[in-house]
Amino acid sequence: MALIEAQDLKKTYKIGTIDVPALKGVSFKIEYGEFVAIMGPSGSGKSTLMNLIGCLDRPTGGKYILDGFDASKLSDAARAEVRNRKIGFVFQSFNLLPKMSAFKNAMLPMMYSTGPKDAKKVREALKSVGLEHRMHHTPMQLSGGEQQRVAVARSLVNDPPVVLGDEPTGNLDSTTGVEIMAIFQHLNNEGKTVIIVTHEPDIAQHAKRILRFRDGLLESDEAVEEQLIAVPKPKD
Ligand code: ADP
Ligand code: MG
Repeated sequence: MALIEAQDLKKTYKIGTIDVPALKGVSFKIEYGEFVAIMGPSGSGKSTLMNLIGCLDRPTGGKYILDGFDASKLSDAARAEVRNRKIGFVFQSFNLLPKMSAFKNAMLPMMYSTGPKDAKKVREALKSVGLEHRMHHTPMQLSGGEQQRVAVARSLVNDPPVVLGDEPTGNLDSTTGVEIMAIFQHLNNEGKTVIIVTHEPDIAQHAKRILRFRDGLLESDEAVEEQLIAVPKPKD
């Protein structure tokens, strides 16, 4: 069983009476433990796809199977529940709450979940991204790379099988971007499935497989021949 299966997946937005077809029918599978980069020009449907994979939105056609369950037709409440348990999100702009410490930011998904609120797990997540000594700093007291590492820790606290990043290195300089890729590779080596959108070929080469989109269609699906290995451990 694949972790993710898209079958002829479609998404058409409606703006008034106008139909905007953003995904025109894409099919692929992603197995447990993969590291996938999604590429393609602006407007090709990458974010739309990530929103569907992350159960943030519902397809208008086709089927989306996540972890063995058909997630295409779930109610909003059921989708929120699935999202909370199965998906970790990392965004281009970090999306941290400015007044909260790194610790509290990282803990947030736990607060929205029915599972236990386990401070030890939050500390472990921050440690796994090399930030145990910055736990009580607020985002403003952290560099961009450190803020994104807090966001990665936040994506991990509910221990979801998959972490999604929509251009997670897009707001970082290239050295810092590679540091974030080192963390993703480390997580992937430990068995986490990682899926990121990027428009930077150098960043995509850190994944193991590249899906390319164009005009709402899957243009190519290729294994990365020579995966670039980022520095193995994030520096503190
Ligand atoms: P990408 O992330 O590859 O740049 P998107 O998935 O954001 O592409 O967008 C794909 C297409 O769908 C674009 O034509 C975009 O304008 C359109 N689109 C995206 N989101 C919406 C929306 N919420 N409402 C209407 N059209 C949208
Ligand atoms: Mg996008």
